[in-house]
Amino acid sequence: MRCVKCGWIIEDNRCPCSKGRENALKPLVPIGTRVAFRYGRGPSMPFWSTGEVAGLQGRLYQIKTRNDAFWCELDDLVPESADRDDLLREGTRVWALWIDGRWFPGIIDAEEGRIRHVVWDDGDAMWLEPHQMVVMATESGVPKEGNVVLTRHPDGDMQPARVEAREGMRFRVIFRDGEEQWVPGDDITTFPPNPFDHA
Ligand SMILES: [Zn+2]
Repeated sequence: MRCVKCGWIIEDNRCPCSKGRENALKPLVPIGTRVAFRYGRGPSMPFWSTGEVAGLQGRLYQIKTRNDAFWCELDDLVPESADRDDLLREGTRVWALWIDGRWFPGIIDAEEGRIRHVVWDDGDAMWLEPHQMVVMATESGVPKEGNVVLTRHPDGDMQPARVEAREGMRFRVIFRDGEEQWVPGDDITTFPPNPFDHA
């Protein structure tokens, strides 16, 4: 299952925000709980949405959205949590669900009751409910092989690319169109590791 605070899948009772302590697992998600969830898994299904637990069947949770219902495993959802709400304060760095169903890094800069105002790193901003965001547990560091970064494409504009190899502070990157090149570390913007891009 995932940590209700940081959204990472808990392995060996640990997650990035538990900082070496055991994470207090609460495996059962009761009916009526609001969740963020993903419809399924696979390279063309990076999308998450929000809904409410409507039923249980063995290890599966039925999540109802406004128009539909889906069956999900525990790793496919992050339940709302009073523990997390307490951490979602002005100045908290978060991963928040954008309208296209993907998670982007941002910061909370205002609250209105239980509603939080999130400003994403690209400048977009939106009022969201607390089950539409998790606390960011790890910030970006030096890019590693496999990380997705932002760097200048030979065509001239900034584009996402995947780090293939590293030599000192030079990085071999491959763009979505297959273009590859070496770029210096100064020309690379790294994203913090996204808990929803793994597993
Ligand atoms: Zn955590």
